[in-house]
Amino acid sequence: MNEADSEIIAGLLEDCNYRATRVPEEADIILVNTCSVREGADSRAIAHLSQYKNLKKHNPGLTLGLVGCVAQRDRGKILEQKPFIDLVLGPDTYRRIPELIIHANKPCIDVHLSKQEVYEGLMPFRNTQVNAWVSIMRGCNKFCSFCIVPFTRGRERSRAVESIVTEVKKAIQDGYQEITLLGQNVNSYKHQEDRFPDLLKTVALIPGVKRIRFTSPHPQDVDEAMLKVMREHENICKSIHLPLQAGATKILKLMNRTYSKEKYLDVVDKIREYMPDCSITTDIIVGFPGETDEDFEETLDVMDRVVFDNAYMFKYSPRPGTAAVKLPDDVPENVKAERLNRIIEKQKAHLLAKNRALVGTVQTVLIDGFSKKDRDEKIGRTDTNKLVILKAGSACIGEMVKVLIFDAVGVSLFGKVD
Ligand code: SAH
Ligand code: SF4
Repeated sequence: MNEADSEIIAGLLEDCNYRATRVPEEADIILVNTCSVREGADSRAIAHLSQYKNLKKHNPGLTLGLVGCVAQRDRGKILEQKPFIDLVLGPDTYRRIPELIIHANKPCIDVHLSKQEVYEGLMPFRNTQVNAWVSIMRGCNKFCSFCIVPFTRGRERSRAVESIVTEVKKAIQDGYQEITLLGQNVNSYKHQEDRFPDLLKTVALIPGVKRIRFTSPHPQDVDEAMLKVMREHENICKSIHLPLQAGATKILKLMNRTYSKEKYLDVVDKIREYMPDCSITTDIIVGFPGETDEDFEETLDVMDRVVFDNAYMFKYSPRPGTAAVKLPDDVPENVKAERLNRIIEKQKAHLLAKNRALVGTVQTVLIDGFSKKDRDEKIGRTDTNKLVILKAGSACIGEMVKVLIFDAVGVSLFGKVD
């Protein structure tokens, strides 16, 4: 989401005749877009911006800005602690960037949260080659007890279908092959009478859209209408990110996740009933307040039952201002670390087993870049979002090719164009 927001900001700056540079010494404006969802990311962001402070000696006109969720959360405090910062902008105030950069007295701060802002009508300046991020809704009304998002990004609001269609058509014209629809709760999209399945279908029917992905859906909002549309359209990737967070119903309740362990497993069954080969990935938090060994075993149990295709796994970190902060952070650090290791190891084994089962099959892969290790190899993704390192011959980035998978090692699949 932050990458997509950064592209919106870059689009606004391009419109004011600024040009992107990869060289910080050349820049007249440096904005660091920040995430506050977990502790690591937010401290890194501030450290990153501080790194540029000395550039002001050579370029006194340099504008340094902190934008996004950390800016929203820390507001005035940041300017007191880091007086070299000129701009502090929350996620709903990017439209003001041209005006603030050109005219305002610095430092300035705007962290107004909007009930309407969806950045309709702005064209992002894209930084990718194959996939175009298209943000369709913003904010979150779910208030999971561990999560800071509803406080930094405000309430849910969705863009009109027509404006999304215009942006997708433009991206296709510009040569993008894949569209990823984005939202904090992408499948609770709701604009007037339109719901997420309607939008998904409309986008799938736009000529030239080779692949559609979406992230991040909430299990509560996965319904049969969505699964039906996914099944009916070949260009909608058979891949769903379904954040579990925890396996024990007791913990899910404390997390305010609105589903039980059984309900989550029912959603998984439904997905597989509609699309037996659909990949399912997840997010898991270990060490939430009150998580006993028995509760943690339930997380392992769900992992064994579902066998996820991939998982983002985290130790719980208390986020100031959230409801969970009032609960004692009572799982010792070493226990959190040990639980995290156990799920990482389990997930690795599951992934390898799943990948090995693909050896000998032919997969349709969209090539999206070069391998970092070997420039003779390219990388691409299967419909189910699995990364394949491939000997692609003359096939180019952006091409869809049939690939024979010949090996699975660690977390990687290896293939050659069939
Ligand atoms: N909207 C998505 C998740 C967005 S946040 C959903 O509802 O699932 C991305 C992930 O960060 C979450 O799924 C969660 O696993 C993790 N996360 C969020 N807050 C956290 C916290 N306080 N500690 C550890 N992990 C956290
Ligand atoms: Fe955070 Fe929960 Fe909203 Fe996801 S659904 S963004 S975890 S509050």
